[in-house]
Amino acid sequence: MSNDIIENIASIQAQIADAAQEGGREASDVTLVAVSKTHDAPRIQQALDAGHRVFGENRVQEAEGKWPALKEATRDVSLHLIGPLQGNKVKPALELFDVIETVDRPKLARRLAGLMDETGLRPNIFIQVNTGEEPQKAGILPHDVDAFVAQCRDDLELPVIGLMCIPPVDEESSLHFALLRDMAHRNGLEGLSMGMSADFGVAVRFGATYVRVGTAIFGTRPPIAPA
Ligand SMILES: *Cc1c(COP(=O)(O)O)cnc(C)c1O
Repeated sequence: MSNDIIENIASIQAQIADAAQEGGREASDVTLVAVSKTHDAPRIQQALDAGHRVFGENRVQEAEGKWPALKEATRDVSLHLIGPLQGNKVKPALELFDVIETVDRPKLARRLAGLMDETGLRPNIFIQVNTGEEPQKAGILPHDVDAFVAQCRDDLELPVIGLMCIPPVDEESSLHFALLRDMAHRNGLEGLSMGMSADFGVAVRFGATYVRVGTAIFGTRPPIAPA
């Protein structure tokens, strides 16, 4: 892989365009979320300088350290939260993120609704689905999705725009992408956040509207330090 962040983004955008066209869609139907977790501001700035505007971070605290200054300097950035959201981080998350992709439990949905009313901040949200029904993984189970979408959208009036999943590492991701697509369509949701460095092309063929790509853009991440 190239060390050049700009080249990597261009190459991924070209692959996204090809995959979209194979499925009869436009490249512009798919948004590349550049996952910048663990990477420092100067590396992120390289992507900003190249004109890229949509980024993903998985930890609120890490994002709070890097992004206020970057967003101050580049106003049209869209920042996605793609990692778990704790109840005590909802307010800072609303203040920093433009999209929250990881709404995964009723209590969080209620807290988001309450704080959205209080603050007037209303980032779009995705509901995270645990398509592989993995016990250690966050997300609504497939058989609870329809009811949870209805609760979020109709009862709590959250701005739900789609579904998000992270397939099990050891399974064919296309099966999970197809499942997520079907669940979104039957609920009238257009947004599909699925596909990472290893499988974003497959995800686009299965209808992804957002792909979350980190390693293929910024290179490998340092190993995660124990919490
Ligand atoms: C880190 C991360 C990604 C990006 O993964 P890569 O394999 O580096 O592209 C995508 N989605 C989520 C939820 C992540 O945490």
